[in-house]
Amino acid sequence: MSEMLFCYCCRVHHPSEQMRSFPTRRGARWRCLRTIEAAGSSVDQRDLFGRTQSEINLAIARQNRERSLVPISERRLQR
Ligand SMILES: [Zn+2]
Repeated sequence: MSEMLFCYCCRVHHPSEQMRSFPTRRGARWRCLRTIEAAGSSVDQRDLFGRTQSEINLAIARQNRERSLVPISERRLQR
């Protein structure tokens, strides 16, 4: 008896032996080997990972900017 996992690509469940963890913008998701192979996994995977990484970098940069604004506004309030 094999476990059934939800394939985000086909939006149906497949047996777990056909599934691989696949990196997406929202983190690792289950995707079946059939669609990974059809998409040409290595290029697709690198591309998705690169996009995810640059989005993370953007989010960190945005957070740092917001954090660096806090002391300035506090200084303004004190004056
Ligand atoms: Zn599938």
